[in-house]
Amino acid sequence: MSSALNLPEAADVDALRAQIAGAVATAADPGYDALRASWNLTFDQRPALVVEAASADDVVAALAFARDRGLAVAVQSTGHGAAHTADGGLLVRTGRLLDVEVDPATRTARIGAGARWSDVLPHVAPHGLAPLVGSSPNVGVVGYTLLGGLGHFSRKHGLAVDSVRAIDVVLPDATRLRVTSESEPDLFWALRGGASNFGAVVALELALIEAPALFGGMVMYPGERATETIAAYADWIATVPEEVSSAICVLRIPPLPIVPEPLRGRTVTVVSACVEADPARAQELLAPIRALGEPVADMMRPIEIGGLGEVVMDPVDPMPAAGHSDVVAGLTPEVQALLAGTAVGEQPFSMVEVRHLGGALARAGVDGPIARPAGDALFHVETVAPPGPAGEPVRAALRGLADALAPHVVGGPLPSFLGELEPLTPARLAQAYAPEALPRLAALKHRYDPDDRFRFGRPIAQEWAG
Ligand SMILES: Cc1cc2nc3c(=O)[nH]c(=O)nc-3n(C[C@H](O)[C@H](O)[C@H](O)COP(=O)(O)OP(=O)(O)OC[C@H]3O[C@@H](n4cnc5c(N)ncnc54)[C@H](O)[C@@H]3O)c2cc1C
Repeated sequence: MSSALNLPEAADVDALRAQIAGAVATAADPGYDALRASWNLTFDQRPALVVEAASADDVVAALAFARDRGLAVAVQSTGHGAAHTADGGLLVRTGRLLDVEVDPATRTARIGAGARWSDVLPHVAPHGLAPLVGSSPNVGVVGYTLLGGLGHFSRKHGLAVDSVRAIDVVLPDATRLRVTSESEPDLFWALRGGASNFGAVVALELALIEAPALFGGMVMYPGERATETIAAYADWIATVPEEVSSAICVLRIPPLPIVPEPLRGRTVTVVSACVEADPARAQELLAPIRALGEPVADMMRPIEIGGLGEVVMDPVDPMPAAGHSDVVAGLTPEVQALLAGTAVGEQPFSMVEVRHLGGALARAGVDGPIARPAGDALFHVETVAPPGPAGEPVRAALRGLADALAPHVVGGPLPSFLGELEPLTPARLAQAYAPEALPRLAALKHRYDPDDRFRFGRPIAQEWAG
């Protein structure tokens, strides 16, 4: 090691390169910038080296290298939820682990740690099956699932983390294990929420549901009518069964030439929904929310499983995203007023959303460390905030909105929704886990990663040991 910078020597890196089928890059290599890049451009990370694994064996070799040299390790696929810059460590990128195998008999999919939902849906749809997918087809399945996974079927089928059947993981000591609730109950419990604190996952085995008939999409109303639209939505969600998962958001559509004229540069209030029912029943359930005066656009329709990625229009291209989320008791008049207020005047928030929780989300689910939502709604803000001074006014406005929300907060968000606004202090991170899970997480972290080398992502704090 060259101790001043704690970087591996070039000869060491060459030795690693000789064992790896994928790519290895340090700052001296031309591929370094592409391999270290996150989807969230806020995180301009500078790892000592990046290993882009082409196989599980590559991950084992990378972690053995890190173990022998005492390097800290980060694991990412897309960088949608990077949360910390992996500075000075070894960054394992899993984006090339794209294998997806579906076993229709057991309704299970084995999904490589580089797959996004858009890679998985074409494999499961022909079998009449569906995974517990979220709003964006572009997020990594492993990061989404192990950090909670709130999706289109959540009110009926719960969090995606509850669909995990087995986890193929390389531990910090570079041993590879297939972890199930029977074979390794502690690790199975801890990985489903603790994720990269306990190793680098190379594949997940997930339970699939029988694909239901689906109907939904988005209906948009003028932002000027936000107050009435939000009030009507609050009344409507109080009546719907668990088959209806939905959200309402105030969306500021950018004035870009690629956006069609009726939407370009407009502020709209959008209700998005995914209903598990035949079209006639679904349209009956959705009727109240599609009849709130003249819509700007009504894009509700039958949805194929393969088209689940298009139910809402999440951003695709990399961006400097800053977000904040918390759970509130429900869409109370006070929370309605906060949401409607974001449609007024010039404000820097790209999207302010309330997702309807409840249903299966309010039930216990499979035993694991993640805190089940303490209320009926998730308040979630997402916006574009350039790093450094240029983004400071946006972050200040976001902090203001988070402060105004604070009196209504009843619990923290899922680990997947922790956001980028505030540093992930142990106190903030702890809000995403059940209080009684914290000492067990800390004890297991100490057992499986005693040197705390997997300290990026959402790091478990030893102070939780109590
Ligand atoms: C546009 C957008 C839409 C979203 N929609 C939803 C949604 O509908 N529901 C929801 O619940 N969340 C949603 N999220 C949040 C998203 O699920 C998290 O950001 C998730 O962590 C992304 O995973 P990733 O692998 O793509 O990101 P990465 O940044 O690559 O990984 C994030 C973290 O996941 C863990 N991780 C990733 N790969 C591995 C691995 N192989 N082994 C161990 N740990 C690993 C690590 O802790 C890592 O730090 C959304 C995010 C964005 C940006």
